[in-house]
Amino acid sequence: MKELDYIVVGLGLAGMAFCEQLYGHDKKFIVVDSGGASASRVSGGVYNPVILKRYTLPWEAEKLMDIAVPYYKMLNKKLEIDAMRSLPVLRVFTSAEDQNNWFEAIDKPGLSRFLNRQLRKDPITGIKAPYHFGEVLETGRIDVPRLMDAYSASLLQTERLIREPFDHAQIQFIDDHVVYKNWKAKRIVFAEGYGLKKNPFFANLPLVGNKGEYVIIKAEKLVLDAALKSNFFIIPLGAKRYKVGATFNWQDKNNNPTSAARDEILNKLRKVITCDFEVIGQEAGVRPTTGDRRALLGTHPHYPHLALLNGLGTRGIMMAPYLAQMLYEYLENDQILPKTVDIMRFPKKFKKRV
Ligand SMILES: Cc1cc2nc3c(=O)[nH]c(=O)nc-3n(C[C@H](O)[C@H](O)[C@H](O)COP(=O)(O)OP(=O)(O)OC[C@H]3O[C@@H](n4cnc5c(N)ncnc54)[C@H](O)[C@@H]3O)c2cc1C
Repeated sequence: MKELDYIVVGLGLAGMAFCEQLYGHDKKFIVVDSGGASASRVSGGVYNPVILKRYTLPWEAEKLMDIAVPYYKMLNKKLEIDAMRSLPVLRVFTSAEDQNNWFEAIDKPGLSRFLNRQLRKDPITGIKAPYHFGEVLETGRIDVPRLMDAYSASLLQTERLIREPFDHAQIQFIDDHVVYKNWKAKRIVFAEGYGLKKNPFFANLPLVGNKGEYVIIKAEKLVLDAALKSNFFIIPLGAKRYKVGATFNWQDKNNNPTSAARDEILNKLRKVITCDFEVIGQEAGVRPTTGDRRALLGTHPHYPHLALLNGLGTRGIMMAPYLAQMLYEYLENDQILPKTVDIMRFPKKFKKRV
């Protein structure tokens, strides 16, 4: 039996960020990941600290940014890859009123750091924007599949990644440890994204899930080196390819691309694009979103060796490093979790034996 500090289940943005905490604190761990559906791999990869629909800041936006940006820089350096780049996010204005809303928003608390007072007036070849663009500051893009591939490879090299589905039925609680197959650990941290729905210990928590789809296009004449936001994103991928979307669907919970989403995206795209394009792909995934739009962190009230890192929602890139740090400090240094993210805000959702 191999002795560990932690078993991490799931290697998306959440699992990876928790592994980095363990790595940084010299803890012995393995990760079990099936290599199946992953919201992280289909995400747009954009980090953007402003909710552009309402011109508000997401929960703890400034702290999230201050932790996330150095974290991804550090990972790129450690893995010797170039999967992060700063990328402007430009809001397309559709009217003079839209422009006014931008200037009103700049005076809201916290927003002046992130919204540029200077409008972008240079035209973008291939985009209709008579009212110009507003630029969000401190934004960028992570090439998440590339980052995840490099991270997985480094874990495989050190024999820390087990590529198989985790079987919850094989967990045993012995003395003050958990035993899983040939491993004995102090704790298991579940970071399964929407896969949480199959976890018998935590499945009752209100992880609602929101399906998102992107269409990938190739547009030879579009000259865009920014993520463009109208009522959806156009994100440059390089080589004239762009990710367009994503949709939000609260009903459908599978990972299959649909023709309805494709039609919705293309109809919206045709309203802003003025050049030809061809569709070269489509992707779908389920965002791990909660009813109250807050993360799910903590330990199971009846099985304190089992911990949860989930509910990253629509902003997993910014959320993951901050939440992973918060969970680590809670587990190892008895720091109190904020009520807003603590799973004990749902005390009736836990059963004794599952
Ligand atoms: C279409 C779309 C666009 C998005 N765009 C952005 C964006 O631009 N910016 C942004 O910040 N966020 C974006 N998001 C949100 C972001 O992707 C998520 O918040 C984040 O990826 C969630 O990460 P996670 O690690 O919790 O889950 P996941 O990435 O889903 O990872 C969970 C992992 O656990 C594994 N797993 C699950 N169950 C088991 C099991 N029983 N055994 C073994 N392995 C298991 C899965 O295979 C997976 O690898 C987007 C999401 C979607 C769907």
